[in-house]
Amino acid sequence: MSERLMGAFERPFCGSLRAADIGRRVELVGWVRRRRNLGGIVFVDLRDREGWAQVLLRDALRDAGEALSQEDVVRVVGTVAARSADTVNPEMPTGEIEVIAERVELLTAAETPPFVVEDRVNASEELRLRYRYLDLRRPEMMATLMLRDRITFAIREYFHHAGFVEVETPVMTRSTPEGARDFLVPSRLSKGMFYALPQSPQLFKQLLQVAGLGRYVQIARCFRDEDLRADRQPEFTQVDVEASFIEEEDVYALIEGLFAKVFPVVGIDPPARFPRMTYREAMERFGSDRPDTRFGMELVELGATAAGCAFEVLRKAATGGRVKGIVIPGGAAFSRKQLDDLSESVKPFGAPGALWFRKTADGYGSPAKKALGDDGVAAFLAAAGAGEGDLLVVVGGAPKVVFAALGALRIEFGRKLDMIAPGAHAFLWVTEFPLLEWDEATARWYATHHPFTAPNPADLARLESDPGAVRARAYDVVMDGVELGGGSIRIHDPELQRRVFAALSIDEAQARHKFGFLLDAFRYGAPPHGGLALGLDRMVMLMAGRDSIRDVIAFPKTTAGNCLLTDAPNTVDEAQLRELGIRLS
Ligand code: ASP
Repeated sequence: MSERLMGAFERPFCGSLRAADIGRRVELVGWVRRRRNLGGIVFVDLRDREGWAQVLLRDALRDAGEALSQEDVVRVVGTVAARSADTVNPEMPTGEIEVIAERVELLTAAETPPFVVEDRVNASEELRLRYRYLDLRRPEMMATLMLRDRITFAIREYFHHAGFVEVETPVMTRSTPEGARDFLVPSRLSKGMFYALPQSPQLFKQLLQVAGLGRYVQIARCFRDEDLRADRQPEFTQVDVEASFIEEEDVYALIEGLFAKVFPVVGIDPPARFPRMTYREAMERFGSDRPDTRFGMELVELGATAAGCAFEVLRKAATGGRVKGIVIPGGAAFSRKQLDDLSESVKPFGAPGALWFRKTADGYGSPAKKALGDDGVAAFLAAAGAGEGDLLVVVGGAPKVVFAALGALRIEFGRKLDMIAPGAHAFLWVTEFPLLEWDEATARWYATHHPFTAPNPADLARLESDPGAVRARAYDVVMDGVELGGGSIRIHDPELQRRVFAALSIDEAQARHKFGFLLDAFRYGAPPHGGLALGLDRMVMLMAGRDSIRDVIAFPKTTAGNCLLTDAPNTVDEAQLRELGIRLS
């Protein structure tokens, strides 16, 4: 090895050099981004995680420069110099300087990469994931990784100063009830037995409260075996929080304080206090429990108008369910095809279709006009506050279907019509979720959040007689229509926990089998406690302004759950299976 100019950690990054460094003799290491030869001088852009700097190789170094190719790893010793006025590049952070090399050393030669390591990458995502280390070498990917680090650092710092203690909970554990399938790990020592990977540290963080820790935080990896929708990962990271002797207000203040510290990292200043909205109000006004409140176009109530109208379909929907609508400004001009598409687009939510109403220069229009007449159509438009030129879209049926269909249409048209002011953000607490949800298929109640969420004391008397009406002490924090996290005040009384299990059709024996250890712990003095978990990947995605959580995870899996880089999941040796007592059919 040749003589070193400075220690490894004293060396500046290529991408960090600025005009203030002019005159400095430096040692740089990095990858060759680009090499070109101009008038007998070789210019090399030397890249590292912070960006790149232009290095000049001339005279005796010219041949060595000529021999370099893309992605070679090199060490350069040289002096930082000012660029001449006509070569200053104001677009580049290092655009005012260049490095005049006095020595260059090839550390490793690189083969031609399968795609060019540039931000304007035209490689498929598959190729990028297969060669993830090259993909991560791209400056914007590297910047995202480093942003994630700054965010997690700020989170840890905040909680540390607030008296929270980070505790690692097991990854090999038993099932935690978060409503998804578990990933299982077979045990060799106890054949036929399995560990489960945690869907969340829920039970452990509650046990830590029984232990008396008081304030717990963990940046925790969670695992959920779900049929992956577009932007989910089978393993993901949560900022998991739990504390004792707290109420909802304490959680709200804690997280508002956290966001006030973390979001400014990317120049977003959340309000000191977030507005709050009950689940019910969110559904009625926005058709969603994670409403994007950056624009209006709220759902309008049309039940009374529908109940008294001459169109049987709507009349029936109003008596057996709900009838609501949204008004799309300027939508009266939609083409026949756009109107048909609109009606089609609500079908995946279980609605038979959407009805539309409009008034244009040609008069009133609606597929229901035959039954309703002009007056009937006018009555709907008036009830919805729709003016001439607007389009009223109406959906009727079961409340769940109506909310979901109109909620989705609202988001679709809010985006299409550019109703969201650039740079606007909306933070919000959604509160008073229902404790239980009825599932038709299995004909039983399920916990909306999880079975340890405390019911609202005001509704407790109805737990057995009218379970669907019981509100939970649960809350979600929402940003720009994305659920960033959620949690609840927990049950700490074993008797109440038993009643909730009973409402969930979990009998005594099942409860003991699944959560006996928690029920036991509660017998020995459980403090009142509560908490929440934030989805870190999603939070970083929003802060980094990316569209996919795959972009903010160093080594993500595909939507099919595969790691293309390591080729996981993979088959294992017969011998390994035998040791585990597993036979594949
Ligand atoms: N464990 C919950 C979840 O993963 C969060 C919480 O209740 O704290 O959604």
